Amino acid sequence: MLEIKTNLQAISLRIEKACAAAGRAPNAVRLLAVSKTFPAQAVAQAHTAGQIDFGENYIQEGVEKIQALAHLPLVWHCIGPIQSNKTRLVAEHFDWVHSVDRLKIAQRLAEQRPAALGPLQVCIQVNVDGGPTKAGVPPEQAAELARQIATLPGLRLRGIMSIPEPAPDFASALAVHQRSLALYESLKAQGFDLDTLSLGMSADLEAAIQAGSTMVRVGSAIFGTRSAQA
Ligand SMILES: *Cc1c(COP(=O)(O)O)cnc(C)c1O
Repeated sequence: MLEIKTNLQAISLRIEKACAAAGRAPNAVRLLAVSKTFPAQAVAQAHTAGQIDFGENYIQEGVEKIQALAHLPLVWHCIGPIQSNKTRLVAEHFDWVHSVDRLKIAQRLAEQRPAALGPLQVCIQVNVDGGPTKAGVPPEQAAELARQIATLPGLRLRGIMSIPEPAPDFASALAVHQRSLALYESLKAQGFDLDTLSLGMSADLEAAIQAGSTMVRVGSAIFGTRSAQA
């Protein structure tokens, strides 16, 4: 478990170097630690090492950790697929959701968000490379979904998220991340007040930062290799 602290330091260094290489401020990128499949205890260790933001894919699993660690001042991000019957859990427990790709899900989150918690912070998931996972709205439909989300109470639209297929090298990772940047910039030019480009994971965070990512989602490089499913 000492490893988590060491890994977090190594990731912070990678982020700093990537920011320097891109001519960006060292604090321009927020680190989201993806704790899916790892126990609450691992999250607590990462928090002790200074980590605040945590991402979960599996909603039920995430809610269990959120409840177990309610005494810690953590910020929880839902980054996984959301079925209609899970929106209430997301609305009632998470601070952010990066994986909104349908109006129906956004509407349910808006209706179910308890007013006392303040708005749920939302990113639209975009299928930027037409990848086979099918999650994410096609880029050409993102503006329409953004317009609809902006009218919903209880939600605050912050930006976009994408999970492109793994790229063979830096240049191809950069090229696909730049398509997300172009969409993000185009939405801002259309008047959306956005500040979050959620791009990059353990393997491609340098390319994502070069492309303008403001939030990298890092799992295995912090917590270790996941077994099976994820
Ligand atoms: C698992 C996951 C990550 C982290 O992936 P690593 O390769 O372990 O860094 C990031 N984003 C999403 C949406 C994920 O599901």
